[in-house]
Order: sequence, then C-alpha cells, then structure tokens
Amino acid sequence: MNLPNWILQRADLSPNRTALSCGEERWTFREVAGEAKQMAGKLRSLGMKEGDRVALLLESGPRAVFLIHGALLAGLELVMLNSRLTEAELAYQIADSAAVSVIASDGLAAKAGVRAIPASRLAALEAAAFTPASVWAEDRTVTIMYTSGTTGFPKGVRQTVGNHFASAMASVLNMGLAEEDVWLCSMPLFHISGFSILMRSLLYGMEVRLQPKFDETAAAREIADGSVTRISVVSATLARLLNRLEEEGLRASDRFKTMLAGGGPVPVPYIRRAQALGIPILQTYGMTETASQTATLSAEDAVHKEGSSGRPLFFSRIRIDGAKAPGDEGEILVSGPNVTPGYVGRFAERAALQDGWLHTGDIGRIDKEGFLYVLDRRSDLIVSGGENVYPAEIEQVLLAHPSVMEAGVIGMADEQWGEVPAAFIVAKSAVTDEELRDFCAERLAPYKLPKKFTFTGSLPRNASNKLLRRQLKEQLGGPKP
Ligand code: ATP
Ligand code: MG
Repeated sequence: MNLPNWILQRADLSPNRTALSCGEERWTFREVAGEAKQMAGKLRSLGMKEGDRVALLLESGPRAVFLIHGALLAGLELVMLNSRLTEAELAYQIADSAAVSVIASDGLAAKAGVRAIPASRLAALEAAAFTPASVWAEDRTVTIMYTSGTTGFPKGVRQTVGNHFASAMASVLNMGLAEEDVWLCSMPLFHISGFSILMRSLLYGMEVRLQPKFDETAAAREIADGSVTRISVVSATLARLLNRLEEEGLRASDRFKTMLAGGGPVPVPYIRRAQALGIPILQTYGMTETASQTATLSAEDAVHKEGSSGRPLFFSRIRIDGAKAPGDEGEILVSGPNVTPGYVGRFAERAALQDGWLHTGDIGRIDKEGFLYVLDRRSDLIVSGGENVYPAEIEQVLLAHPSVMEAGVIGMADEQWGEVPAAFIVAKSAVTDEELRDFCAERLAPYKLPKKFTFTGSLPRNASNKLLRRQLKEQLGGPKP
C-alpha cells in the first residue's frame, strides 16, 4: 500500500482549515506544510538524506510540530527522545538507535551531548531545494520510540507509516469524527499518546490545540466552553483536570465528545467523576508497540464493565495465551496492522511477533462478551501458595485509603507461601500498619493482604511516571531468585 504524502495531501485538500493552535496563535494546514517544507530543506542542507535516522529532543510547542513534520517531509526516521530522561539515559538511546544526528530545543541541547545541534542553529540555516516524496510506502519507518523501561531496558520500537495509519483509522472508526472536532494535546509529542494526535490531525483534517505543558486550568475552561471536543489523558493528568473542573464548578460543554485515558489503569472512581461532569471517558489499552490504542472501552460500557479496557479496535485481534475458556487468565497477545514490525538496536534481534502475535508481557483475561481486563505485568505477578496475586489490585485498594498518597506492591520471599505481598506506602497523613491491614482485610481475600508495610518518602518512577516495582524489590533485598 502506497499512500500519498500525508502532509502535502492534507495541505492540498483542506489548505485553509486550522491545523494547529497554541495560545492565541493558529496555523492552517497550508501554513503548517509551508513551515515543514522550510524545516525539511534545512535538514537536507545538513546533509541528511532519505532514510537517515535523526534523534529529536524537543520541548513541546508549535516549533516542535514544524520540525517533526519537516523531518517527515525530508524522509527521515525520527527517534523521539523523552525530554525527562537523564543525560545517561539519553546517551543510551541515542547510541542504541544509531541516530546520525541529534536535534534539540536550545534549552535541552546541553543534555543531548556534544553532537547535538540546537534548534536555533538549524533554524538559521539556508534551506536546500529538494522535492519531497509524493508517496509514503506502508513499510517506511516513520518513528522510533523507546518503551518506558518499566520492566527492564527501554526498547526502541519501529513504527511505520502503516502502523500510524492503522492506528488513526481504527481510532476514528471507534470514536467517529465531527466537522468541529478539535483535539487538545497536552501529552508529550515524543510519546505515542501525543504523536498519534498529530497523525490523526493530518489524516482527519482536524485541528490540534497544543498545550506545551499540561495546564489543567486552561484545559478545564476549554472543555467547558466548547473550544475543544477531544482530549487524551493519563491517570495523573486526569486527576488534576477533574479536581479543577469540580473546584471551578465547570462541566463539559455539549460539544465535548470523548476523553481517551491510557498509559495504565484508570481508577474506577475517576471514571465516575468524569461521567458526572459530562465527560464520556474511554479507557484504552495500548503500548508503544501498538502505536497507541489497541482496545478501548466505550463510555456506555464503562460502568457495567468496571475496570475493563474494552474490546479490540476494528483492525486488532486480542487473545489470551493458553486460555481454554472465557475468563481464563494469561499473557495478552495482540495482532493487527498497528503492531510494530520490530525493534532497533540492542533488541533488534528479538522478534516482535511470534506466529503473528505480539506478546505484550501483560496478563489479562477476556470475559464472555469479549471485554478485556488487564490485570498486571507478567513480571510483577506474585504467586502466593499457588494463588495468583496482582499487585495492581492491592495498590488500587490501598490508594482508596484517605491517608495513602502512593502505593507500590511487590512479592516478598516467604518460607510458607513461596511469596507474599509487601507494600510500600507514601502517606498523606499519619496512618499505622494495622489500620492499613484492616482496611485491606475488608476488601481483599486473606492471601492478598500485604504482610509487610514500608513507609517511604517517595516511590521509584521512570520518566513516564510509571512505578518501578523492580527497584522496590531491590530495596527489599534483591530480586526474586
Ligand atoms: P517497558 O516495555 O520498557 O517495560 P512500558 O511497557 O511501560 O515499558 P509503554 O509502551 O509506555 O512502556 O507502556 C505500555 C504498557 O502500559 C502496557 O504494556 C501496559 O502494561 C500498560 N498499560 C497501558 N494501558 C493500560 C491499561 N488500560 N490498563 C493497564 N495497563 C495498561
Ligand atoms: Mg512494554
């Protein structure tokens, strides 16, 4: 499948529609394409040619969008670096991806190493004349994104034209599209959650309202006044947004259509609060390897399928490894045109697919009606006296306690049971082990109760703000044998 160049095609088809807005500024698709062509010419004048890999370390904003589109026009493969990584983590990803150059926003250039080209230096260059490719082949690698590194080393995932296309199309088949749609993008552009919004904008002809940094006050007002109709969130941004809407006594306008919530499980109380504010919330399941969503729970199913991540999007198939009957638990396997063809660098030899299926490393189950429940990471499963215990379930219970701000649960070696749950707690207010144990005992089976509580000032998290349970295991005396 050869597709037309999305940037040029969109600028031809709807030149005067708004493509991008940020604060008071707006750009049409023709203007965005013009900026991107300039950028592409400048990248070309640096000697970069089609198929070269360039790493981008960018502060989110309109300039970042122009540079991303410019690099796409120039035919480059974009290694999207997370600006929250440390210098050492960046150096690893830059070397692992074998990027020929690194371009960094001026404020981040120092972090990106001596080879990095500051964005202002690129901007000052004369653009070389060149003609962008008129077609984009389905198997062309568009982006290389590193996984969050929650379970081990971050893996460089290749995402092709076909992957981004299938992801955006499956999303719109699921959610629909309206003439007045405007997607608020406050998610990082280096992550698939933010980048996928840019791809949807090109394919749908839809405006992206960009927030360089998540601003819950502005987001709440724009959701309430109807200037945005879609938004993507993760649990942390969702919590801030709901608080702000409630504090200001605001509700979503009638124009507001959907909120996509992903990246991890969304606590059910948040789903209820969102719905009370007129926000249809779609819990989604996806990962870097699936170029965004692969399953989604519709707003109407959110309450009677509490805790589910819904059903596969149209192009995806999802099954549970080894399941014999509905409800059986096992590793979640995914297949579809949105799934990566493979990794680069250190993990290049690892096949992404086995017999056509991506092994996600997540454990889940699918109920009789085909709804997926994501239980936890396979690597974090606790087996206690032969019973499977999912740390995420215990963490959710602990988080519901008014004195608990953060909770992390891992398996601890135990002579009698093999393993037992142990909890790490960041407290909001004074609370004892006994109180927490009693609270859990009212809500969880005895074998799920944490046998040890450790109070701590903070929990180890990665640059995506995900809990690093493997570091908690080290704190408790080394990983499991
Ligand atoms: P690494 O692969 O390096 O360990 P990571 O898997 O955290 O890192 P991402 O691709 O950013 O990297 O995250 C995808 C993961 O996030 C999924 O595999 C899953 O574990 C978790 N996740 C995403 N959506 C959900 C959801 N709806 N419910 C539970 N977990 C989810
Ligand atoms: Mg992963």
